Amino acid sequence: MKPVDPILPGATIGVLGGGQLGRMFALAARALGYRIHIFSPEYDAPAGQVADEETVAPYEDAHRMREFASRVDVVTFEFENVPSTATEVADSCAPVRPAGSVLHIAQHRLREKTFLEKHGFPVTPFRRIGSRDDLRVAAQDLGLPAVLKTAGFGYDGKGQVKLAAWGDLDAAWDKLGGVEAVFEAWVDFEKEVSVIAARGLSGEFKAFPVFENAHARHILDLTFAPARLVPGAAEQAVEIARGIMTALDVVGLLTVEMFVSRNGTLLVNELAPRPHNSGHLTIDACVTSQFEQQVRAICGLPLGSTDLRAPAAMANLLGEVWSEGLPRWTDALTDPGVKLHLYGKAEARPGRKMGHLTTMGSSIEDAMHRVRVARSRLLRSTHTESR
Ligand code: AMP
Repeated sequence: MKPVDPILPGATIGVLGGGQLGRMFALAARALGYRIHIFSPEYDAPAGQVADEETVAPYEDAHRMREFASRVDVVTFEFENVPSTATEVADSCAPVRPAGSVLHIAQHRLREKTFLEKHGFPVTPFRRIGSRDDLRVAAQDLGLPAVLKTAGFGYDGKGQVKLAAWGDLDAAWDKLGGVEAVFEAWVDFEKEVSVIAARGLSGEFKAFPVFENAHARHILDLTFAPARLVPGAAEQAVEIARGIMTALDVVGLLTVEMFVSRNGTLLVNELAPRPHNSGHLTIDACVTSQFEQQVRAICGLPLGSTDLRAPAAMANLLGEVWSEGLPRWTDALTDPGVKLHLYGKAEARPGRKMGHLTTMGSSIEDAMHRVRVARSRLLRSTHTESR
């Protein structure tokens, strides 16, 4: 195979999507001397604010997409729900990394699970649901409780309903709008972890330490690293990620979210072919951040060290943190080891990811405690809490 020339600093990277992942990617790319051009349906998006150029148009606008892609050296994305027609148009002008074919699988739960099962990766038992009858048959076969998830366009628990009893089936089908869905057996997991790994143009592979994730109301709340796992489980999780990346031929980053059972067995829940919320602590706590790693991978540069400098924890800041007025930033930063990241979003709606805090510590417990204290200090009602 002919080696592909690297895309060197000074070149322009195009990004589909204008959210916080694109913003942190753009900041990392600019540190390496690249120019950034964002394609986003919204003006003044978090990524657009820090980009060299911003195209504001719907992803379906083929003319604007072609114009955008013809002015960049490589295209990547920070958001999965981009129509595949958009990546096809972009790909006719510049390489899209990871490829549109990866996006096509990862943006659709049913295609994703079918792919994983076919290639022998461990997944939650599932069935395709296209009708009420399918739902009843699946409940009979796989049992209850279970989760019904829309096949496309779901994230952070959106588009999913728990099925606790037979009486829930009809209402769940109606709630999801009668669209194609996936029925998943309920997993009584002990914890959730994620592996974020990078794969370069020549197949070079590097994974970050495994992250352990705690969710609140289906949204990521807290991540810490390294994950507390039984011996051998972290290595196994990384090997699963490596296998999936090879099977999909990913050039770029892939996040693999997994459930861990009480005996340490791993099941893949979801894939995201991009940096991930659970990897935000890499900015402050790893030698190379997940965003810099994405730049290196898609530009054909050698991958950076993923070493963790110290145990670390990250706490998300959702819109609720603004519920009592402007958060007390100064109070949160009284611990000099606390790092604040804000995404430039003007409106703080409940559940909206507005920013995050990261701390390193002498142990996982220390890092988690400090990041939780810092977050609680943001609110007026709790700002008197001390360490
Ligand atoms: P997802 O959108 O698939 O990542 O799901 C969001 C969250 O819902 C996961 O992080 C889990 O906490 C929970 N969840 C999803 N699927 C299942 C399942 N099959 N069994 C138990 N909990 C689940």
